[in-house]
Amino acid sequence: MYKKLAYPLGLAAVTLITACASHTETAKQPSNFVEAYNGISSDELKQHTKVLASDEFEGRLPTTAGEEKTLDYLVSNFKALGYLPGNGDSYLQPVELMEITADPDMHLSMGSHTFDYQKDMVASTKREKTQVNLKDSDIVFVGYGVNAPEYGWNDYEGLDVKGKTVVILVNDPGFENPESGKFQGKTMTYYGRWTYKYEEASRQGAEAAIIVHETEPASYGWSVVANSWSGPQYSLVTDNGGADRVAVEGWVSLDAAKKVFAEAGLDFAAEKQHAMQGPYHKALNLKASVTVNSSLKKSTSHNVIATLPGSVHPDEHVIFTAHWDHLGSDPNKKGDHIYNGAHDNATGTAASIVMAKAFAALDQRPARSTTFLMVTAEEQGLLGSQYYAEHPVIPLDKTVANLNMDAMNVLGATKDVSVIGMGKSELEKYLAKATARQGRELVQEHRPEAGYYYRSDHFSFAKKGVPALYAEGGDEPANEEMAKYRKRANVIVTGCYHQVCDEYRENWDFSGVREDTQMFFEVGYDLVTSDDWPKWNPSSEFQRNK
Ligand SMILES: [Zn+2]
Repeated sequence: MYKKLAYPLGLAAVTLITACASHTETAKQPSNFVEAYNGISSDELKQHTKVLASDEFEGRLPTTAGEEKTLDYLVSNFKALGYLPGNGDSYLQPVELMEITADPDMHLSMGSHTFDYQKDMVASTKREKTQVNLKDSDIVFVGYGVNAPEYGWNDYEGLDVKGKTVVILVNDPGFENPESGKFQGKTMTYYGRWTYKYEEASRQGAEAAIIVHETEPASYGWSVVANSWSGPQYSLVTDNGGADRVAVEGWVSLDAAKKVFAEAGLDFAAEKQHAMQGPYHKALNLKASVTVNSSLKKSTSHNVIATLPGSVHPDEHVIFTAHWDHLGSDPNKKGDHIYNGAHDNATGTAASIVMAKAFAALDQRPARSTTFLMVTAEEQGLLGSQYYAEHPVIPLDKTVANLNMDAMNVLGATKDVSVIGMGKSELEKYLAKATARQGRELVQEHRPEAGYYYRSDHFSFAKKGVPALYAEGGDEPANEEMAKYRKRANVIVTGCYHQVCDEYRENWDFSGVREDTQMFFEVGYDLVTSDDWPKWNPSSEFQRNK
């Protein structure tokens, strides 16, 4: 599982030299860089995390009072550090959201089975309608629901899905068949993402798209689906009111799917095997029905943009991103009902503030501008960053790079740094230099099959061709003590992903958050003090738009 990749010799030599030079000021770093670097403190990182994850911030749901508190906190901090408004004379970029809340009194029938909301199914609509009605729609299993010409794979080939309900496997055909050479083996491609499945089903003209949940290929359990699909769902406001989307988007549990396949006289596991071998679809000769009643509300959330202008090329920016939002609170939940999102992503937001302070503390202003973009609605599908990338305040061709922090490492200091989507761009050279200073090595992410490169805000920049880096402390504890701590803390961090128990803990060790923040500070520093334009590697699926 755990694959270490050695860097080419040339680069190793370079990192060695810079590592040696790191204790003295080099020609490249004439300012008080090291002082600012060392000034990044665990205490401050903890303090900001604690505030942002407090109950007072109500789980930082977009468009709620929790948003207002969060925006105030961010703006006042950036302002106090001397950062200028990034959007004209405002620190805020309004993001128009369509909030669609499905009535939980909802049942999905497939064949003779009826499945209950959250227990075995979830569904919603991106059509801006108070009611969508799926009635006796033919069910077709479409394997992975992939149409990928470059892999010679089209599950929809020769199939007319108009008015039909497509049932789709999660992940892509390479995942459970890594030796087959299909797609990128265990490394998830964008075709494996659930967002893609609905996009493709919509392009094909299907009426409904239902994904079968399986814990391993999804990389998270059913409770994550049930929680994140209940309550208000957001999308960006569109001109056509979501008319180009399928009417119903949903998930069913694996158990539910097995029952439906059995009624169709099919074995789910055997059908999945077929779907793995090659493009595949099969009519189940059963009907699906569901009524989704929704309340609609247009509302406005905000990205926060704060800039420290460069001294020579203020028009050229390095943009740090971290999403400030989380899941809010669930008034129907007994006991603790606030999704505080301490790890996800009060930590990345806190790191941004602390890093902004380090940049502001430099006694020589870097040549390029340093910009912090704190985005909204990441949890709802990277909407804030998508909106920004589609309406960039700083031209994308003046955006040198994007560096993203999402759910920082609260499991303690590490010997390694995990690069999410390793091998994509030259930004990794900068990262290698920064981690060499810390005596850490770069490794490939632990589970490339989970598709993390497509699951946070840097992806919105990558899609638009801006080189984007996402990295964090790896899995090798720095020492024995860290190893013990990591074991204990990991149970909580993993178990509390998108749960109410993701809350700030005084006994969290922030040495890992600190070293990662320092690492990003150095990567950012080297970029804002350089005139280099790092490129995507030729093998990457992304390239700078001309
Ligand atoms: Zn999250």
